[in-house]
Amino acid sequence: MTHHQRAESANTLSILAALIQFKTLSEQPNHEIIAWIKAYLEKFGVPCSVLFGPEGDRANLFATIGPKEQSGYILSGHMDVVPVEGQDWATDPFCLTDVGGGRYAGRGTSDMKGYLACALAMVPYFQSLDLKRPIHLAFSYDEEIGCRGVPHLIPTIPDLCAQPRACLVGEPSDLIPVLSHKGKCAIEISFHGKAAHSSDPSKGENAIYPASELVLFAKDLAKRLKTEWLNDARFDPSESTLIAGVIKGGAAVNIIPDHCMVQFEVRSVPGQSAKEIADLVVEKAQQIVKDRDSLDLSWSTKVLSEYPALFPCENAELIAMMERISGVDSKPSVSYGTEAGLFHGAGIPSVICGPGSITRAHRANEFITESELQDCNAMFAKLASDYCCH
Ligand SMILES: [Zn+2]
Repeated sequence: MTHHQRAESANTLSILAALIQFKTLSEQPNHEIIAWIKAYLEKFGVPCSVLFGPEGDRANLFATIGPKEQSGYILSGHMDVVPVEGQDWATDPFCLTDVGGGRYAGRGTSDMKGYLACALAMVPYFQSLDLKRPIHLAFSYDEEIGCRGVPHLIPTIPDLCAQPRACLVGEPSDLIPVLSHKGKCAIEISFHGKAAHSSDPSKGENAIYPASELVLFAKDLAKRLKTEWLNDARFDPSESTLIAGVIKGGAAVNIIPDHCMVQFEVRSVPGQSAKEIADLVVEKAQQIVKDRDSLDLSWSTKVLSEYPALFPCENAELIAMMERISGVDSKPSVSYGTEAGLFHGAGIPSVICGPGSITRAHRANEFITESELQDCNAMFAKLASDYCCH
């Protein structure tokens, strides 16, 4: 390790420690972490745009190092983390802790403040180069609840810089470039009936029965997704999937239930819209209620979260660059989702490549190692020196 790399590594850990102590749970105001990052960037003379979402109390952040009128590279990551409730942590999850063996524990170390810390730590290095292409930082909020923040950032990009050449999404992938993932849509459907004493069912309207019929429809549709719909061998399973994940209804065994709620989740292969499949379940719910023809039965629905699939990257130049700067061969797909499909949808070729392992994400004692952070720094250094300087 050179003196330079040692300094960067120590710097990355101290930035990570600062980021981890902000309890940036999804669906919460995030002005504290935004203010910290903004102040950090301004220390190096990097201006940044704080882009508030419609919620008004939380924001995305976008910053550019290098000539913004040239086409450059986006480093994209999310600032929010998942909760720690009910998890058995050996250390304070919101305090970066050296747990030995080069491991550093804390909520968000892998997913994905480690990536953010590396990007921020490299800013002085980026600035020391004569960049001909810019590097952009795109940090978003509320990713963990269905990429809700980044859709408010992407439309502003044309006002902030020239159309970027590519986006590197830093979701933990063991620093292996990943070329595609499935899309997702989660919905909730509620049936509202009429309560009555169980001794005379005809006086009520049972909300559990239509919900049950809908669940069986979904089970059958899921089977057809495998046999009759688009399959993609890059994924395991190769078909789009649909499941009923939560069902809640009724209050007591001697009352006709007046309410039943079911949540469904669709994960779709590229080329198949998850929302379109979810819409079939919604249409069926409508049909079930219509067929019952009862004034005492109604229904409602809402989308809980949604993001598109990432189409397999076909940009050979980008794949070659990612394999060179990461030092490993790319991988066709992963089972989790990211904001990469949204960037791709905006015409920005996107790949996933971040330090740490997804198997540690969302779990107790999440950690990242110092060498994983160093490898990510080295990847960013190559991106800047080999692809942004001429
Ligand atoms: Zn994540």
